[in-house]
Amino acid sequence: MFIVTIDEDQCSGCSECTESCPAHLLSFVEDKAQVTGDESECLGCESCITVCPSGAISIAEM
Ligand code: SF4
Ligand code: SF4
Repeated sequence: MFIVTIDEDQCSGCSECTESCPAHLLSFVEDKAQVTGDESECLGCESCITVCPSGAISIAEM
């Protein structure tokens, strides 16, 4: 299982991560990306990390 963390202060709201997640776990809440889906469905693919220009996303495997 993976824990996805998005640093709200670093997020520029570019939307790249929300479009890149194959599991559709990420979406916008008040112009910031947040994990709004079922985190247990995270594939650990790191697509969101790769596309984020701000380095705002990190993933930890539990
Ligand atoms: S690691 Fe992959 S599946 Fe998990 S939130 Fe990021 S893009 Fe989505
Ligand atoms: S890719 Fe990074 S900066 Fe862009 S919306 Fe997602 S978390 Fe924010």
